[in-house]
Amino acid sequence: MMSSLTGRCLCGAIHYRVSGQPLAVDHCHCESCRKASGAAFVTWFTVRAFDVVWHGDKLRWFAAAVGVERGFCGHCGSTMAYRHDAEPEEMDITAASLDHPESITPEHHVCFAERLPWVEPAMLAGLPVFERARMAGQGRRHGKERVTEPWPSTPV
Ligand SMILES: [Zn+2]
Ligand SMILES: [Zn+2]
Repeated sequence: MMSSLTGRCLCGAIHYRVSGQPLAVDHCHCESCRKASGAAFVTWFTVRAFDVVWHGDKLRWFAAAVGVERGFCGHCGSTMAYRHDAEPEEMDITAASLDHPESITPEHHVCFAERLPWVEPAMLAGLPVFERARMAGQGRRHGKERVTEPWPSTPV
């Protein structure tokens, strides 16, 4: 049996715990998810809204369209959640905000008609791979940005 799912934003000001299992896990390729996240596509897991307990700072909600809200951290900007008036009992949460994203498995591609050409499997598989930065000692490589220690909720 899988234990409960926990996760957090990049800065740690917002964290959450989900009881129960995801209803679905989808890679969404819609343009809105791309714009909101800055990523090529967003992996969401869908849960019953009442199965999520949020801790720390409150999510900020952006009214992205009529009946659609996208939740993010007001400190670090991490994309966290999505809700739609059409299914008020459900909420989508970003799979990559999980403490253990590997504990869930994507099941579908959705809005695939809107995908970027460079997420095609052949395009992805055809690129050179570097396990770390592209150049040794590269100063602006990504990673380990306050992912191990929570950022204080209030400025210090
Ligand atoms: Zn944050
Ligand atoms: Zn989307």
